[in-house]
Amino acid sequence: MRRVSIFGSTGSIGQSTIDLIRRDAQSYDVVALTGGANVDLLAHDARALCAEVAVTCYEDRLPALRDALAGTGIEAAAGEAALVEAAARPADWIMSAIVGAAGLAPGMTALAQGTTLALANKESLVTAGPLLMETAKAHGTKVLPVDSEHSAVFQALVGEDIQSVERIIITASGGPFRDWSHAQLEQATLSQALKHPSWDMGQRITIDSASMFNKALEIIETKEFFGVVPAQIEVLVHPGSTVHALVGFCDGALMAHLGVPDMRHAIGYALHHPDRRMLPVARLDLAALGTLHFEAPDERRFPALRLAREVMETGGLAGAVFNAAKEAALDLFIAEKIAFTDMAILVERVLAEMSSGVGLGKGSITLDTVRESDSEARARVFEASGTN
Ligand code: NAD
Ligand code: MG
Repeated sequence: MRRVSIFGSTGSIGQSTIDLIRRDAQSYDVVALTGGANVDLLAHDARALCAEVAVTCYEDRLPALRDALAGTGIEAAAGEAALVEAAARPADWIMSAIVGAAGLAPGMTALAQGTTLALANKESLVTAGPLLMETAKAHGTKVLPVDSEHSAVFQALVGEDIQSVERIIITASGGPFRDWSHAQLEQATLSQALKHPSWDMGQRITIDSASMFNKALEIIETKEFFGVVPAQIEVLVHPGSTVHALVGFCDGALMAHLGVPDMRHAIGYALHHPDRRMLPVARLDLAALGTLHFEAPDERRFPALRLAREVMETGGLAGAVFNAAKEAALDLFIAEKIAFTDMAILVERVLAEMSSGVGLGKGSITLDTVRESDSEARARVFEASGTN
């Protein structure tokens, strides 16, 4: 029996993880499930999987969670400290699928416990990549990528020497606004941003895909996870999302990873690693597909990609600022208080403000410094937006 926990179990990645675990429930002991406001779903899954504990990140949802779990013997808890406590419970494998910087502390705690971390929460690597990877190393713990592109690169690298890698190419669908002009992007609405052409994902990452902030985070994630230099990382727009990533080697060979856009592939790979098991994902029919289309990304219409390069150049706490500013700007866009294109404008402005003077790049990365930079960046975005 493997002891597993799922952080962010009520979300898109969390539900796909539960789907895989339920198909083979007798092989797993479920330790913790965590979610947010939807305590009914959280409690339903905790009952179905006989979890030890269910945690909601919202303290005011604890009474409802307790009610929903009454008589089951499953513990109920709430809040940030409870999330960290749940991550400290002995487990073999944990899925980190909380959205946003809130995923960092539980992930770090799990790693320090020696728990294998299946990492969907790319924000952990963007905000504190060196800290996370060093913690894993110090405790001899594995971090396994769950982002589809990074899982693809990870798989293409099996048996290879990272020194022989010339470049890593991650693909981007281009999102719903791939062909839109800047003038059209200025008018893009929330509901338009939520119509992703190929992937079915949580609301926040779907909008980040439309703005290409998701790909910006993934460029940084690639650098932190694989330890390559920024110049080795390329982005290729590939509508349809059939090729997830490619690794180019020193002999000119390109190894590509292909599959249908179904996150259960990357989740399943991380769940069964280092083995491969049968997964309930559709098989690709390349003849039916006929062609694969690729194009270069446009950094003028999608400035997030350029900002990611600046963040990597600055280093230090720039990733924490970038991610937090992006999260705050996204909150404002979701609340329909700012325009779609204002997100990148606000992030760039706050990055510039916080990079000048204090030396953001030299700041050491600890959970405390990340938290401070994160709060300051969010406050500055809010102030700069002029909203209330
Ligand atoms: P989602 O919005 O569907 O689910 C997020 C989960 O996190 C929910 O369980 C929610 O309750 C919980 N949560 C939200 N805010 C929280 C907080 N402050 N504290 C604790 N828990 C909180 O998101 P998702 O699409 O499943 O994405 C989860 C993570 O996986 C993100 O980091 C995303 O970038 C990454 N990812 C997602 C996909 C995808 O296909 N959905 C693909 C690649 C990577
Ligand atoms: Mg991805």
